Amino acid sequence: IVRITKLAKSFGDNEVLTDINGAVHRGEVVCIIGPSGSGKSTLLRCINLLEVPTSGEIVVDGQSMTDPDIDIDAARTRIGMVFQSFNLFSHLSVRENLTVPQRKVLKRSKAEADRVAEHNLERVGLSDKIDASPASLSGGQQQRAAIARALSMDPDVMLFDEPTSALDPELVGDVLNVMRSLADEGMTMIVVTHEMAFARDVADRVVFMADGIVVEEGPAAQVIGDPQQERTREFLHRVL
Ligand code: ATP
Ligand code: MG
Repeated sequence: IVRITKLAKSFGDNEVLTDINGAVHRGEVVCIIGPSGSGKSTLLRCINLLEVPTSGEIVVDGQSMTDPDIDIDAARTRIGMVFQSFNLFSHLSVRENLTVPQRKVLKRSKAEADRVAEHNLERVGLSDKIDASPASLSGGQQQRAAIARALSMDPDVMLFDEPTSALDPELVGDVLNVMRSLADEGMTMIVVTHEMAFARDVADRVVFMADGIVVEEGPAAQVIGDPQQERTREFLHRVL
């Protein structure tokens, strides 16, 4: 559902991604791991065009994201993104956070948008917070609301960029459990994470990046349990 071919991205003369290739199939969960500065966020941001690739091609659901004539807004509605910082609109209620994008972008009626919002808040265990303001929620609840908001747009693929790394440790589990149940439901997910247990248990494949290249990739049990590359071993040794 996502295909990346010869992707490169530079900021000025800093080449952050070099010749990235890969594919993610429908229903697959791929975790991206690697040291800070290796280009993981930049790769995710290129997939939904928050960054414009310097060269190469990205195709999402048959649509070339790198086509110069692309309708970016239409293409982006197929891709849900959840960031490290829970970027809910603070002046809107949880309900409005979930319904306003549906009404604006997908032109859903108020009743339909409400129905979808209620359904997705239930999926993340936040039905009772629908009329709360984001500021009254814990970090973990805000992140789950952000996931529900992304789900409300019916994405074909969900991108997660370290969704738990800004959370207090006791709140991490709730968010990971929501992501785990999404994976079980068959959602296609690309997850940048430092949670190695999550990657090992939930990912179909793990990609290890360093210095803007894919150093190693394969089944989660292999990359995390029996890495073939010295750099992967060295990284895992530090984080496990
Ligand atoms: P972390 O684990 O710390 O989140 P990362 O693997 O996500 O790291 P990126 O955020 O993709 O790494 O950054 C990779 C490199 O690209 C870094 O050297 C960073 O300074 C640079 N970079 C990222 N975004 C920009 C930008 N908008 N302008 C200039 N340089 C950038
Ligand atoms: Mg990052």
